[in-house]
This record gives sequence, C-alpha cells and structure tokens, in this order.
Amino acid sequence: MALPGKGLIDGLKVTAKTLSRRAVTEQYPDVQPELPPRSRGVIALLEENCTSCMLCARECPSWCIYIDSHTETAPSVGEQARERSRNVLDRFAIDFSLCMYCGICIEACPFDALFWSPEFEYAETDIRNLTHEKDRLRDWMWTVPAPQPIDPGPSVIEAPAVEGPAAGAAPSDGAPRAGEGPESGGGE
Ligand code: SF4
Ligand code: SF4
Repeated sequence: MALPGKGLIDGLKVTAKTLSRRAVTEQYPDVQPELPPRSRGVIALLEENCTSCMLCARECPSWCIYIDSHTETAPSVGEQARERSRNVLDRFAIDFSLCMYCGICIEACPFDALFWSPEFEYAETDIRNLTHEKDRLRDWMWTVPAPQPIDPGPSVIEAPAVEGPAAGAAPSDGAPRAGEGPESGGGE
C-alpha cells in the first residue's frame, strides 16, 4: 500500500531537482537565438546569376518554385556573326508555405544563383504572403553570411610498420605461400 503523501513528496523532489538546473529557455524575441552556421532560414536569389534554366523548379519536390521568362534576341556583334538570344527572367517566386527546406534547388542550381540565409522572421498572418517574389528573394541576399571555411579533411592514419618480408612477397626459401599448394587449386 502506498504511503499517504508519497506522491506529493515525489513531486517536490522533482521540483527541487529542476530548480538546481540551469534554465535552457531562449528569451526570444527579447534575445535573438544563436543559430548554428549554415542554418536554413530562407532562400535568397542572386538574380544576376540566374539564367532561367528551370533546373531548380524541375528538381523541387514540392513544386513551389515559379519561373516565367522570355527570350530576347541581341544584335550580332560582327558582320559574319549570328544574332544571339538570351533568357530574361520575368518572374521567380518561391512559396514558403509549401517549401520543405530540403535545399535541393540550391544544390541543383548550376549558376550559384540560390543561397541559404539564416533569416527566419518572415511569418505572415495571410498564407498568400509567404510566396516571395524575386525582388524580395533578391533582398534576402543581403543577409546571406560569408561562406564557411572548408572543413579540414580526416587526419592521415599512419600504416603500422611491417616487420620481416613484405606482406604478399614470396618466401625466400621458394616454399609456396599459403593457399598456393596443389591441394588448394580446383579441388580435382
Ligand atoms: S528547399 Fe526544397 S522544397 Fe524548398 S524550394 Fe528548394 S527544392 Fe523546393
Ligand atoms: S537553377 Fe539557378 S539559374 Fe536555373 S532557374 Fe534556378 S536559380 Fe535560375
């Protein structure tokens, strides 16, 4: 039979233990959190690098990147040269209400036009405002941190010194190595 008041004593023990521990609560928004490097907050677009190739939109598993573009023809530069055509970006938008922050678009972009920014304060009361058009995506570029230094590679592990004949070398007395005897062949 449980002692009367045991539950109360157990509860007070838990309270006393918790009181002696350091609080881990973040005082956000009064104090900004210290985010780890390479935090995935929002995607920034460097519009100048974008060629409207559509690779990011095709690879996005959520289908939340919208791109419109048209082709312009530039005049030839010489008498023999042909006219040149280039893509002009009309619309680039990301719907962050659908985005799952996988980063595939950033990895897939061959022209370094997409970057992670650690900014995360863009909550909206209207879900439609979570679709960021290219001007807003371009503005996020100002919050992209400098690239992190390259991780040092693994340390080189020294192979232990081999004593005696090198591994795999034939013994000097001409005797067959293990597994080379006639009995180790095809089993005939
Ligand atoms: S992070 Fe992933 S889900 Fe979000 S836009 Fe890029 S590819 Fe799509
Ligand atoms: S993959 Fe890069 S260059 Fe191509 S449309 Fe997307 S952002 Fe622009």
